[in-house]
This record gives sequence, C-alpha cells and structure tokens, in this order.
Amino acid sequence: KQSKKEVKKGKGQSEATKVTPKSEDFSQWYLDIIREAELADYGPVRGTMVIRPYGYGIWEAIQGWLDRRFKETGHENAYFPQFIPYSFIEKEASHVEGFSPELALVTVGGGKELEEKLVVRPTSETMVNHMFAQWIQSYRDLPLLLNQWANVTRWEMRTRPFVRTLEFLWQEGHTAHSSAEEAEEEALRMVEVYREFAVEQAAMPVIVGRKSRSETFAGAVRTYTIEGMMGDRRALQAGTSHNLGQNFAKAFGTQYLSEAGAQEFVWQTSWGMSTRMVGGIIMTHGDDTGLRLPPNVAPVQAVIVPIWKKEEEKEAVLQAGADVQKKLAAGGVRVKLDANEQRTPGWKFNFWEMKGVPIRIEIGPRDVKENAVVLARRDKPGKEGKEFGVSMDEATLIPVVKERLASIQDALLAEATAFRESNIEDVSSYEDLKRVIAEGKWARGGWAASDADEAKIKEETSATIRCFPFDQPEGGRTCLWTGKEGAEVALFAKSY
Ligand code: AMP
Repeated sequence: KQSKKEVKKGKGQSEATKVTPKSEDFSQWYLDIIREAELADYGPVRGTMVIRPYGYGIWEAIQGWLDRRFKETGHENAYFPQFIPYSFIEKEASHVEGFSPELALVTVGGGKELEEKLVVRPTSETMVNHMFAQWIQSYRDLPLLLNQWANVTRWEMRTRPFVRTLEFLWQEGHTAHSSAEEAEEEALRMVEVYREFAVEQAAMPVIVGRKSRSETFAGAVRTYTIEGMMGDRRALQAGTSHNLGQNFAKAFGTQYLSEAGAQEFVWQTSWGMSTRMVGGIIMTHGDDTGLRLPPNVAPVQAVIVPIWKKEEEKEAVLQAGADVQKKLAAGGVRVKLDANEQRTPGWKFNFWEMKGVPIRIEIGPRDVKENAVVLARRDKPGKEGKEFGVSMDEATLIPVVKERLASIQDALLAEATAFRESNIEDVSSYEDLKRVIAEGKWARGGWAASDADEAKIKEETSATIRCFPFDQPEGGRTCLWTGKEGAEVALFAKSY
C-alpha cells in the first residue's frame, strides 16, 4: 500500500522515505507524517495514542498560549476527579443520552465489585455542578470562572491519532453566571479566544459559527464552533464553546440567592479544545516533504546545521554554530543546534524538514570566514545568505530571523486561506449542494428546514451542517431545501 518516494539528499545522495504523497492517499500521508516526524505512536489499546516528545511540544505551545489567555480573561485553573459516580451522568437527560454510547465504566476496584459503577470522565459538567452547587451560595459568588487541564475518555468507534482518540488531552472551561446574557457573552468570548488561537497561532483560517440543533453538545442550549478546512478539504471541528443555559443547574440544584433575595438557578457555559488541534495543524499545513509548522506553535523555530568536510574545519564551524544559537536564544528564538556527528548534513536537512522546522540555518567554513550564515525557509524553495545581509552579528541576525519567522507565519495562513476560499461554493438548490459535496468542496447556502431534512442530507451525501457562520449576508438567503426566504446561511461539508 505504501509507496516510496525518493527524496533528494544533499550532495547527490538519495534515500527512500516512507511518506505517501498527499494527493495519492491523504489518510495514509497523515499517518506517515505522524510516524516520520515522531509526533505520536499507537498505544496497545485500540484508539489510544502515545504522544511523543515532539508532538507533546506542539501541545505545550497550544497549552501555553491558551492558559495565558484564559487567565487574562479572568479564569482560574482547578482539578476535578476523573471518576464520576454513574448516577451523576444520569441526572441530565440529554447529556446521558448523548454520552452513553461513549462511556467507559469502572465496575471493579481493589478486586471487589463496586456498589456503584464509576464513569471515567468523558467531560466534567456533572462533577463540576456537584461542586458548584456546594460552592455557590449567593450572587456574590458569581461569576465563577474555572478551567481544568485534563485527560478525558470517550469510547469512540472510528479513531485517528490526535483527531479522534479514546483518551485525549484537553482543557475544559466551566463557568457559572447570574444571568442568561452573561453566560451567552462568556460562550461567545471563549469561542473568539479559540478563533484567535487558530488563526493567529496555528495559522488555521477557521470559520466561526453556531452548530445546528442536531450537532449541539448533549445538554447545551447552543454550541459555538470553529471549523477548519483540512488539506483533503474535509472539515475539522477544532474547538467548541457551549451555552448550557440552566440545564445542568436544574439537574444538580446549582442555585444562588439573588440580590432581590430569591433562589435562582445559575446560567452556565463550558468550552474545550483538545489534542485534536495538533492533527488540525498537521492536516492544514503539511506537504509531501513532511510537517510544516507555523512558527508560533513550533517547538523549534530555527535549526542550525553546521557543515564541514575536513577535520580541521570542524571546531570553528561548531563554535560558530554554538555562538549563533546563543545569540538567537537570547533574542527569544526557539533554536536548536544539531551538532550530531553521526549524521550527514543532508540527512539532517531531510529530518528537520520532515519535522516542519520553519527555518534552517547552515553554517560552513566559508560562512565562518565571512561572518555570515545561510537561511532556508521550510515554506518555499531557495536559500538566502550574505547577499541578503544575513550576517552572524546579532544586530542583523536576530531581526532577520524574526522577520522571516513572521513572514512564514503569514505565508502559511495566506496559503491556507486561499485554499479554503477556492474550495467553498455558494449553492441555491439541493442539486447544487450534492454536486459541490461530490466534488469534495464545502457548500454554502440558505437553510431553514427541519432536523429531519438535515439528517436526510447527511444520509445521502455524508455532509453535515458544520455551522451557521457568524458572518451572515444581510437579509439572509433562500432556503436551498424549502425555498423559504430569509433563511440563515449554513456551511455543509464532510468532516472528520
Ligand atoms: P465537546 O466537549 O464534545 O464539545 O468537545 C470539545 C472539543 O474536544 C471538540 O470541539 C473537539 O475539538 C475535541 N474532541 C472531541 N472528541 C474528541 C476525541 N475523541 N479526540 C480528540 N478530540 C476530541
């Protein structure tokens, strides 16, 4: 199944790598990249994944940015237990209905049958409400704004590394408010944080919108989402923010004494982004040579490859490499010096290209003599050196490298945006929609029909409503299904 691709090595050597071309088999390409770039491996249990250090480094970049942003927006981190009494899950009717098929249960502990089976956390709304009901007494305790970094378990049937695994890492925000308006504002604020992360950090030009009723989170009133277009044009739901209304509050008795002296149920939100985002980054930017990482989320932004032929050149080249590394690190660049003497420069070029490092810096004996370096960008062919003023002096080196990193970040976003724009088509009838979906594109059209009609479309085309984008045309459109005027515009696509 796997086709071997010959990759040119430096100095005319060549070696087979095991990356299937994207155009030949996208799914296999994705798995090949994950293996070759050492991002993750399979766990012994179906659907589980081992995240390797390089993949975890990308997750840490995601975490770092989000954690800062959550704190800036007034949230604090906390941690709730992973084992949830089964009775909790049953309390909110639509929640149990939605999650039942995916629950992992613990029935034996310490060799004894448990009196009550335990659910391995699939999400924490129930546990959080159990505690909120005790912590919240009056309006003075509100709003309560928490976030948790945790693993969750959902017994998924179709799995794919990062995108959909049985156990995944995520953050889940949980908040309680004294009014419906405030909860709605919070849900919108957090989906905007996700949008900002996706677009500005991951260079993923996502579309923000509201989920249709049938795609709304089990137990929520409304779900907001960010949807990205992957390299095979399938949609990826990359983060969701839910307005829970008072559903969980009523199920758990989460009440507060209002300023007017009445007992009221709180209004709540929850929101999550997971390790799926790593898969989104791979599938948005990767190419046939490997991963391409947006500099803002790259664990290594620049790699220095020292090049020497004669033994007497080695010391000066390695010394220059170490100097350049020190300067760039002090200038705030995440930089690595690959001084490994067991590997050739050509091997290193391929290896770091596979890992998607945005900038490669080559330093050879001539560069040392000329006080210069050679720069190569991962996002486009060619190299630049002394003639572009790329010197080893930190006064020029640091700004040049930073400018290139910013430029790569912009270029990846622009490329992905252009790709997305050329693959969304406006449709005004079901015939149109079917054609566009069959061509592998996204269809955008007016929708005011029923949940059952939406289900029919899914059955016939395997496309679903990804969202009703926030960005709506004035006056709406004609519904592609019923012909009704003033319908909201929906985006239809096949998804992961
Ligand atoms: P939810 O609580 O269902 O809204 O999930 C929050 C986010 O977690 C979703 O928007 C997905 O991006 C992500 N997610 C959901 N299920 C999985 C899974 N099985 N593996 C990885 N990420 C997931």
